[in-house]
Amino acid sequence: MRKVKEIAIAIVVIIAVVASILVVVLADYKKWNDGICPDCEGKYTLIETTKGISAGTEKYYYRCNKCGHTIELHSFFEEK
Ligand SMILES: [Zn+2]
Repeated sequence: MRKVKEIAIAIVVIIAVVASILVVVLADYKKWNDGICPDCEGKYTLIETTKGISAGTEKYYYRCNKCGHTIELHSFFEEK
């Protein structure tokens, strides 16, 4: 029965990790807003990329070409 418990814990941990990644990705998608600035409908342009210490910790900075609104994302998005 001990193995079953270990497997159950492993599944819970995997779900938690996947959920936390999903939350970040969804937050990125919301911020990215299909490459359109929510303030002025300008387009986001990639201005800076910072390398993280491990995969998934790198950051991408995009700036609106009209009003200069800047967003920080954890995933790379293709510019429109
Ligand atoms: Zn803007």
